[in-house]
Amino acid sequence: MNISENTVVQFHYTLKDESGASLESTSGNEPVTYLHGHNNLLPGLENALEGREAGDKLSVTLGPNDAFGEPRANSQLEVPVDHLMGAPAWQPGMVAIVNTNQGQRQVTVVKVDGEVATIDTNHPLAGKTLVFDLDVIGVRQASEEEISHGHVHGEGGHHH
Ligand code: ZN
Repeated sequence: MNISENTVVQFHYTLKDESGASLESTSGNEPVTYLHGHNNLLPGLENALEGREAGDKLSVTLGPNDAFGEPRANSQLEVPVDHLMGAPAWQPGMVAIVNTNQGQRQVTVVKVDGEVATIDTNHPLAGKTLVFDLDVIGVRQASEEEISHGHVHGEGGHHH
């Protein structure tokens, strides 16, 4: 089966920067499972995966504008340390999760001074050209329920 709108796709990936340094990988962990054609992935990745099938390996290079955008100026702000989520203690350079009006976002800790943290609200991968090595491991037709919800149910997906 080829990847097209309303198929459920499973893949492993390794994300590298332009120099080839590995940034993150699903190798040894659960693969990514997503519903194709519902804006669940970066558009550049969905476009590259369109028409592929299980067993296909591909490498996709996305410039910043197709990935997480260019860094914005004046992106630093101070927040209470206890608003940072994801680790018990914080050092400069660590990536934290914060709640915002637009939902949860990844930010980078710039410094910690007592109860106050300075964070950079740019996405940690903003400004980077990203290379995704993709390994498609499964493609199946989505159920009517998955299509109406816009996401995958069961293994690797939502349970509700
Ligand atoms: Zn659902």
